[in-house]
Amino acid sequence: MEKWRAADRLLKFSSRFASAVNWNNSCKSKQGKYFYSVATTVHRNPLFSSISPDDISYFKTILGERGVVQDALALDAANTDWMGKYRGSSKLLLQPKNTEEVSQILKYCNSRCLAVVPQGGNTGLVGGSVPVFDEVIINVGLMRNILSFDKVIVSGVLVCEAGCILENLISFLDDEGFIMPLDLGAKGSCQIGGNVSTNAGGLRLLRYGSLHGSVLGLEAVLANGTVLDMLGTLRKDNTGYDLKHLFIGSEGSLGIVTKVSILTPPKLSSVNIAFLACEDYTSCQKLLLEAKKKLGGILSAFEFLDSDAMSLVLKHLDGVRNPLPPSIHNFYILIETTGSNETFDKENLEAFLLHSVESGLVANGVLAQDINQASSFWHIREVITMHPHFVVSSKSPILLWRVLWNWELTLGVYLKLS
Ligand SMILES: Cc1cc2nc3c(=O)[nH]c(=O)nc-3n(C[C@H](O)[C@H](O)[C@H](O)COP(=O)(O)OP(=O)(O)OC[C@H]3O[C@@H](n4cnc5c(N)ncnc54)[C@H](O)[C@@H]3O)c2cc1C
Repeated sequence: MEKWRAADRLLKFSSRFASAVNWNNSCKSKQGKYFYSVATTVHRNPLFSSISPDDISYFKTILGERGVVQDALALDAANTDWMGKYRGSSKLLLQPKNTEEVSQILKYCNSRCLAVVPQGGNTGLVGGSVPVFDEVIINVGLMRNILSFDKVIVSGVLVCEAGCILENLISFLDDEGFIMPLDLGAKGSCQIGGNVSTNAGGLRLLRYGSLHGSVLGLEAVLANGTVLDMLGTLRKDNTGYDLKHLFIGSEGSLGIVTKVSILTPPKLSSVNIAFLACEDYTSCQKLLLEAKKKLGGILSAFEFLDSDAMSLVLKHLDGVRNPLPPSIHNFYILIETTGSNETFDKENLEAFLLHSVESGLVANGVLAQDINQASSFWHIREVITMHPHFVVSSKSPILLWRVLWNWELTLGVYLKLS
């Protein structure tokens, strides 16, 4: 019972409360913060304590000097979200090195009524990782060890600490002949704990499914410091309740994820990528259905962007070239196939494209001829969110939404047709 009360307290006493109300924009008033989308002012709960010198001393005894960050520059970065839209005023960033330290921090904060906000790579696009007021920021970025990788007995199970940067996991697995089932544009900064906490979808969702499928286990620390060990590595585990699912996508509201066990697929040798143009949205939807029918098991990605997104990317981001010049089409689709038979896979994709052009679904298209061209196609998709300033400065909120959530639209299309 105490566990739930504690978790509830973390929820109410942390910035998760604000992130849960789907705010679009905020401004500070004397009393609190006003979130336009919900037409309400969020006040700092006066029951919260403020950081005292004794608190700082206590944290230094458990974390050492290095783990207690009060430097203005570092705090400024940690207080500001990736889009530069939301800003907290935390005076303290804590960097634990292991689960025990996370547990001690939370236990203490709970007893002192200090609000906390978990932060990973701070790449989430909705302000969930930054404080609303002066919450203590807890970042597990120093917990970045790969604990085990089993490529022999239970093929492809990786167990690692939550602070591992996604890109480092991708590189590690690449050397082992495996891939992460998750990949996204923020991979150079985001942490696997943050990915799990946001239930990030990313570029490989179509093929490998969501993290609810590939995460096999978790370790998490609740608000009162209790460590929940759910770090199983068994894929077919049907032994009762599967509590880890509560943490996947819970954005830090239930506790801090400290370790992750994830199923990783083997790397396949033959990858082909096509960049296509469609003139209407219905054609994009039909194309996905056709791709699923004709490319079947080798279809690994189907990504969608519209003309507004493409124009913004071309205009504002260096090094991005229009793959289908000279004009801008209404919609673009990036298709990737991944298989193990180079000749068969390529012929299959070519036949599919020919058929799609002949049937009028595709207006124009190009197949990547080498790895550089393939990377440049993916680059377009990945950098859509890379430049917050052009997104923020755009005049059209609808456009913003479209630019930001293209991957969700892709998924929407996918689900609609499934
Ligand atoms: C360029 C770019 C591309 C992106 N592409 C995609 C995409 O294709 N698909 C997609 O779904 N998302 C995408 N995103 C958003 C995506 O959710 C995040 O990039 C990523 O998953 C967040 O990880 P993070 O470590 O940065 O977490 P943060 O941003 O630091 O935190 C996100 C949330 O998780 C919580 N949190 C973080 N770490 C922990 C932890 N250890 N325990 C408990 N709670 C924690 C935070 O409190 C916060 O609520 C993209 C973002 C960018 C900037």
